[in-house]
Amino acid sequence: MTILADGGIVVIWVVGIMVLGLFGFLAAVLGMLVRLAKFLLRPFWPEENPTTAGPKASPGGRVCPNPRCRHTNSVAARYCARCGQAMTEQV
Ligand SMILES: [Zn+2]
Repeated sequence: MTILADGGIVVIWVVGIMVLGLFGFLAAVLGMLVRLAKFLLRPFWPEENPTTAGPKASPGGRVCPNPRCRHTNSVAARYCARCGQAMTEQV
């Protein structure tokens, strides 16, 4: 009888761990899908990428050399705030 009880406890533990792992896996997949969707839809995201509307850069800013980013950073920025690309020393 005690063996059966221990077996039941083990089964409950295993099922609980599997459910937790499944939830964690689903959460990780969901986060990856959201990030992938944001990455794929970034060129069509007017709020997050206003520079696609026109090539004009704000005066005093340094445009990211990455053609897929084109984020306008501050003049003192050494790396792009969006993609992390090293800013070239162009005037
Ligand atoms: Zn960039």
